[in-house]
This record gives sequence, C-alpha cells and structure tokens, in this order.
Amino acid sequence: MNNENNALTGNFEALGISGGLLKATIGAGFIEPKPIQAGAIPAQLAGRDILGIAQTGSGKTAAFALPILSKIIGLGTKRRPKTARALVLVPTRELAVQIDETFRLLAKGAHISTALVLGGVSRNSQVRRIAPGIDVLIATPGRLMDLVREKDVILSETTWLVLDEADRMLDMGFINDVRRLSKATHPARQTALFSATMPKEIEELAQSLLRDPVRVEVAPQGTTAQEIEQKLIMARLKQKRQVLANMLADPAITSVMIFARTKHGADRVARDLERDGFEAAVIHGNKSQNARQRALNGFRDGSVRILVATDIAARGIDVPGISHVINFDLPDEAESYVHRIGRTGRNGASGVAITLCDPAESAKLRAVERVIRKRLTVVADHTGEPDPRPVPREGNAARLREPGREQKDALRQAEAKPHRAHGGGKPAHGDARGPRQERKPFRGKRRFGRKPAARAA
Ligand code: AMP
Repeated sequence: MNNENNALTGNFEALGISGGLLKATIGAGFIEPKPIQAGAIPAQLAGRDILGIAQTGSGKTAAFALPILSKIIGLGTKRRPKTARALVLVPTRELAVQIDETFRLLAKGAHISTALVLGGVSRNSQVRRIAPGIDVLIATPGRLMDLVREKDVILSETTWLVLDEADRMLDMGFINDVRRLSKATHPARQTALFSATMPKEIEELAQSLLRDPVRVEVAPQGTTAQEIEQKLIMARLKQKRQVLANMLADPAITSVMIFARTKHGADRVARDLERDGFEAAVIHGNKSQNARQRALNGFRDGSVRILVATDIAARGIDVPGISHVINFDLPDEAESYVHRIGRTGRNGASGVAITLCDPAESAKLRAVERVIRKRLTVVADHTGEPDPRPVPREGNAARLREPGREQKDALRQAEAKPHRAHGGGKPAHGDARGPRQERKPFRGKRRFGRKPAARAA
C-alpha cells in the first residue's frame, strides 16, 4: 500500500476498524469517515450505546454496520436456530433493502449472514432463511412482530439492536411494536438509536432503551436552498400531460422523479408517458415489494430514466444523480414538497425542481411557499389566467425571493422534521393521502394515547 493510501486508510483504521473489514470498507469507496461515523464508531466499539441524531444521507448505516460487523466477524457460524445476533429495525421496506445492501458490501469476504423480514413478500422464505440462525436481521416492525409471536424468530440472543429512523417509526404507528421487540432482545444488549428529529416520544423511548448513551449529532446535510433551482409552471390539469411530454423531450433531463399526489394519479401519469413514447417505472404503496425494488434498482443503475412516485418515495430514498424532480401535482401536505425536491441536488450536486400547478391548486401552492418561505418563479403559464397568488408587498417580495438564512433554516427544519399524517388536516379530494396513509390504517386499540397513522409492513 502506498503512502497516500496509508494516510487515507488511517482514518477508518484510527476509528478502530481493521483487517478484512477495513479492506472491504475502502473497497466500498468509504475512504474518509463521515462525521456521524467518526462520532459513533469508536464509542460503539468500546461497548457504548448511541443516540444518533442524523438523517439518511449522513452515512449513518455504516456508522452502525461497521461496529456490529467488527464484533460479529470472528464469532463463527455456530448460532442457535431462529435467533439473530444483531437486529436492525427500520420503518420502510426500501430502507431495509438499502441497509442490507450496505451490510453485505461491508461484510464482503467475511462469512456473515443477513436476512430481511418485511411485509408484502412471502413470509415462508423469510422463515426458512432465519431457521438456522442469522447474524444480522433487518426488519420492519409489523412483520417481525408476527414472526416473533409465532415463534419463527427468537430474539432472546440478540445482543445488538439498532433502531433506525426512530421518528419515522413513531410517525407510522410502530412505536409499541418497537418497544415490545426491544424488550424481547437480550437484556445485556448494546443499542443504537438513530433519528432525524427528537420529538418528546423519541426522547422517552431513548431514555427507556439506552444505557448512558453517547449522543452524536450531525447537522442535516446540504439543504435544498442553494443547490436546487425551483421553478413553477402554471398549467391546467388537462394540459399537464402535454407540458410534461414537452419537458421530457429535453435530453438535459437525464434522470427524473415525477411525483403524483395519489397512487391512481401516479399510474395514470406513467400510462400517459408510455403512450407519449417515454418509458417510466412507477413506485407506490400498492406495488408489490418486488415491483418497487425492481423500479428502484432500474432507476438507480440508470437503465430507467423516469421514475413516477407518490410521496411514499419522497423521503429516505437516496439515489445519487437525480437531475430533476417534477411535481405533477402539488402535495396535500406542504412539507412533502421539501422532501420531494430533496431527492435531487444531493451531496452538493445541482438539481432542478419543476412544479406544475393548476389554478385550482393555488391554496396548496401558497402553503408550500409558506413552508419554504420563498415565492416560486413562474417560468411558463399555459392557463392564460392571472397569477392566483396575492401580489407580494415590496419588502416581502425581496425577502421571499432571496434564499436567505431564514429560508435555509426553514428548509432544513422541514427536511429534518418527521412527516406527520395527522398534522395537515383532511386531504381535499378523493384518494389523496400522505405517504403513510397509503398503507392499511391501524385499527387496533390505542394503548399509549397516540393514534398510530398507518403500518408499513
Ligand atoms: P446513509 O446515510 O447510510 O444512507 O449513506 C448515504 C450515502 O453515503 C450512501 O450512498 C453511502 O454509500 C455513502 N457513504 C457512507 N459513508 C461514506 C464514506 N465514509 N465515504 C463515502 N461515502 C459514504
């Protein structure tokens, strides 16, 4: 290894990662540790619990995967049937698959077994995979509860527990399952809890599950304010199909996510695109896990240029290189706008977000502009109607136009804030629902005074 490489590898090495794991880490392209990794890895290797305040995109997966792998590698392949050495609980299936990929990547060359337990796919194959015992189990809480209840999975030997995106699990009504599952693990376990925000319920959860944790906090990464150019096109609903087709003829749009408000709407947009000669994949809550993963893989590897999605895909998914986000409809919850457009302009890359707005959506447009504290620039108007928004007063206009500190802070907060299903009032029409409401609503008893929004698995 040359000097330069030595200097670089020193970084993860200095955190305590060594041997084949260090080699695989560098092989994965992880040369310099990210702040969350520098903060969390040595503490976990020293046996400490972690309270990590960080979002997807911060590098938090490797921040918990590396110490777990470092401890598991070398334990041998002897495991009790149906048990898991480490358990990672996550809110969504997509995040689970991403985490599994990272574990496999980092465990390259080591004999480490991983398994996924997710709703929406056959449970038999999951049960079979876990039957001999597994090193790392990555699961969404709903399905795992079922398997634990039926004694297909035994958690009493699990000595590493990670709760990822805890605020989102709370938001999706999983918190009681998370408590029960945590309780079922080994009492002397090591625990890491990661959350983008720290609402009271998560503070309480952390207090009950973590022992004297090391708190690692990283600022949300580059916000939308500067990197993403935001444009507005006024178009009636019946004009949007043509406007979209005209836009997509531009080869500068190399990789685009198109957001629709409803599942039905997303299917219709994709169908119209196909008719207009554009190939598009679709991802939403009614699609099977396999179909969702296929769509996402194609989009990630560049074989699919256009991905049509509902808000279910607006958060958490980290696909680099998305050049454009197009909002076919305004979202029902204004904060979803920030999450949607945050799919582009990631890691300092530039990005463009274009919103198509029917005059009937002007109230939603105003709600979005209030959240981002910015007036979107109209780049085209196909309606022939005056701008439906109130004319800004002189002083306000200047303040709203400039992405000043206040606006950046608002974007940052919105990006970091968990998406609340019951915060935004009732959707205006039909099957308009937020991301969690796409899933089957929870109909059980309210046990902890909080009505869960929906279940993912
Ligand atoms: P995560 O927040 O874990 O989803 O990670 C976000 C992205 O950062 C993923 O694409 C990782 O592959 C990447 N990543 C994580 N750690 C590093 C690192 N130390 N150096 C470079 N890329 C990294």
